[in-house]
Amino acid sequence: MDCIFCNIVAGKFGTEILAQNEQAIAFRDINPLAKVHILVVPRKHSSTIAALTEEKELVGLFALVREVASKFTDGQFRLQFNSGEKEGQTVFHTHAHVLSGRAV
Ligand code: 5GP
Ligand code: ZN
Repeated sequence: MDCIFCNIVAGKFGTEILAQNEQAIAFRDINPLAKVHILVVPRKHSSTIAALTEEKELVGLFALVREVASKFTDGQFRLQFNSGEKEGQTVFHTHAHVLSGRAV
């Protein structure tokens, strides 16, 4: 298994999990671009948000985004899905960036 986020979901790197539910997990980005920079990642592998079609998976993912935003931001945040290499995606396992506070 060479997908970095599948390995994190499987607990192989000992990444600190900030929040989780049945469908998704959340952890800090290793290279933060804002004061708060958290990744929300479906447990099940898909390559981009556009390929994530199961309603239960989508609901679980966005429920965890809401939980992370309410716990770790002041309620103001940006939600970003880089989808495709040309648009800046570097890890091809669907993930939402939750960003809050412009400066690192
Ligand atoms: P993308 O550019 O694909 O939208 O975002 C991938 C993000 O994953 C990047 O912001 C990068 O810093 C982060 N990242 C890559 N590898 C790791 C890792 O092993 N652990 C964590 N916590 N974040 C990672
Ligand atoms: Zn994966």
